[in-house]
Amino acid sequence: MVILVINAGSSSVKFTCFDMADNKKVLASGLVERIGIEGTTMKYTNHKGDEVKGEVNVKNPTDAIKLISERLLDAKHGVLKKLDEIKAIGHRVVHGGEKIKDPIIITGEVKDTIRGCFSMSPLHNPHNLNGIEACEGVLPGVPNVGVFDTAFHATMPPQAFLYGLPYNFYTENSIRRYGFHGTSHAYVSKAAAELDGRPYQSLKIVTCHLGNGGSVAAIKDGKCQDTSMGLTPLEGLLMGTRLGDVDPAVVLYVMKLKNLSIEQMDNLMNKQSGILGLAGIGSSDLRDVEAAQDKGNEQCRQALEAYAYRVRKYIGAYTAALGGLDILVFTAGVGENSSTMRASITKGLEGLGIKVDPAKNAVRSPDPRVISTPDSAVKVQVVPTNEELAIAEFTHALVAK
Ligand code: AMP
Repeated sequence: MVILVINAGSSSVKFTCFDMADNKKVLASGLVERIGIEGTTMKYTNHKGDEVKGEVNVKNPTDAIKLISERLLDAKHGVLKKLDEIKAIGHRVVHGGEKIKDPIIITGEVKDTIRGCFSMSPLHNPHNLNGIEACEGVLPGVPNVGVFDTAFHATMPPQAFLYGLPYNFYTENSIRRYGFHGTSHAYVSKAAAELDGRPYQSLKIVTCHLGNGGSVAAIKDGKCQDTSMGLTPLEGLLMGTRLGDVDPAVVLYVMKLKNLSIEQMDNLMNKQSGILGLAGIGSSDLRDVEAAQDKGNEQCRQALEAYAYRVRKYIGAYTAALGGLDILVFTAGVGENSSTMRASITKGLEGLGIKVDPAKNAVRSPDPRVISTPDSAVKVQVVPTNEELAIAEFTHALVAK
């Protein structure tokens, strides 16, 4: 069964086409970038390794989906004979609010729910919905499935999702912790249990998704108990450009001090803070900051220490929340690739039963792997995330029913 996975953003549409019957093989993948802006380009790669890149005339998501369909059928580089080989389309959707707890077939009602979350996810949900509607237009009759970043966290108990605001802000305005990166936390925690060989439903797992955005999740018996992102993806860890946890009074203080509008403050907290703001070298990429640290840049060293310390605190907090810990998992760009950051985060955690083997930690590999010592009470793993595959698997499971 062929499944197309679509991730529609503000100016890009990413796609991956899987053949689930052929060992979940990626038939083709790529993206259309700078949609609606000058210099729109498309990159397309098929399973034979053919790559087609270049400028394209794409004005909106519907044009993008049409072009992706044409490429998939292309006589030279295509991977399908007919479009009706695509049996379902899985869409990444960021915010599903309280209603959506699982991957779901898109209906008018589900689209209303996605619209209802626009105000909580203005940078993602409207574009995710545009992607869905573009597919409905270009590939009529093919079921669309929404896989929501918030869904995996729907099992959090009230003690974890309630904020200390008056209760009616929750009941009347739905203001609570939702959490994000759920598809990734679900995928890597299941893969970690598989690698470990113990049943997923019997384990206490903390997953650290450390990419440009970052979040930590506490998972018990296969269910999410807590996560560091909140109503929006701004809460929690120090990220590439987002500030994460902060005294809420700082927000008011800075707005008054610098005479900032809501939009300016939003931009400061989301786009100019985190590693970018703290390290002060004009980059949010940890590789650049680590390289500057290695050359003796003290501000970069402090920024990296602050980043690691925040993750370490969450690991401790979530070990307490879970009443113990069996597996600690690192994933995403930083978590999978930076052995230095993994070492820094886990430094001094022997008291919690976390012992990382420096030689194993230094190994670079695309495969899931254990990096703890044999006598470490907590198994520490690096598990590459694969959100596209997770979306394809969820979509396949739902339509196969
Ligand atoms: P993601 O959002 O998961 O794609 O992660 C992207 C981020 O991963 C980049 O901005 C980098 O900060 C980080 N990253 C990728 N490769 C490395 C590496 N080898 N060392 C340190 N950080 C890395």
